[in-house]
Amino acid sequence: MIPPEFQPAKRAEWPGGAACAVMLCFDVDGETVALSEGATYGSHRSFLSMCRYGPEVGAPRLLDLFAHYRLPATFFVPAHVAGGHPGLVRRIVAEGHELGLHGDRHEKLTALSRPREEAVLDRSLEVLERVAGVRPSGHRAPWFATNPWTPEVLVSRGLDYSASEMGDDVPYLHDNGLVEIPGQWAMEDWEQFAFHPEPAIGFQPAGHDKVLRMWWDEYLAAKRVGGCYVLTMHPFLMGRPAKVRLLEDLLRRILEDGGAWIARGREIADWARRGTGTPTGESV
Ligand SMILES: [Zn+2]
Repeated sequence: MIPPEFQPAKRAEWPGGAACAVMLCFDVDGETVALSEGATYGSHRSFLSMCRYGPEVGAPRLLDLFAHYRLPATFFVPAHVAGGHPGLVRRIVAEGHELGLHGDRHEKLTALSRPREEAVLDRSLEVLERVAGVRPSGHRAPWFATNPWTPEVLVSRGLDYSASEMGDDVPYLHDNGLVEIPGQWAMEDWEQFAFHPEPAIGFQPAGHDKVLRMWWDEYLAAKRVGGCYVLTMHPFLMGRPAKVRLLEDLLRRILEDGGAWIARGREIADWARRGTGTPTGESV
């Protein structure tokens, strides 16, 4: 006889009895994607324009979508992009979204010394605070790449959380008290939709049906274990008209399901720090 269906252990509890948390993130990389891949302003004009589509066209359309559904999101913005698109950054904050750190020119931290990493973080904080009028409390490392000292550096600047690791289904605490809100590559639009031939980025772009099915399955699975569903997107990809439609289909399903607590990173970090979702060991 086949036993009843397997029920994985619940990993956390969420506000209002929600079955899972949902964090909708945008990494507004803009031109820094091309610059960090070796492009220059004097060359690769098409590549740069493809990336600039993010802050100039994609992000405003995504903000319209989120305003329509009155949903909160978290925008991680490199300082170089914030300085070049101050109106966008101010709109993100004015519409109630969270502004987070994402390097200056999208530097891969693993290629930096600790002093250089600290200088990039200080510059990022200074630029975002000056442009937006608010001090960010969360950090997403470009490329999800961090150094052993990164949590210490973030706490030394008063930051509350990191969203760069992949070590659990729910937020957890670093030794120094920094909250980690983990993501995963399968929950990224980059792996599904990014493509540029030279310099080469991305893969064979995926079909919408596959991606909607995969991200919806991830949502149902997050509900099953009481997980934290972290969807990471890039406006130069997800801000294209057909991708906005795909995202809207996913958001409508989640809203119709009604089982999620949809929150900004800092709210999830606050909840995790209070330990309200700590039924097991180290995870909070
Ligand atoms: Zn990025």
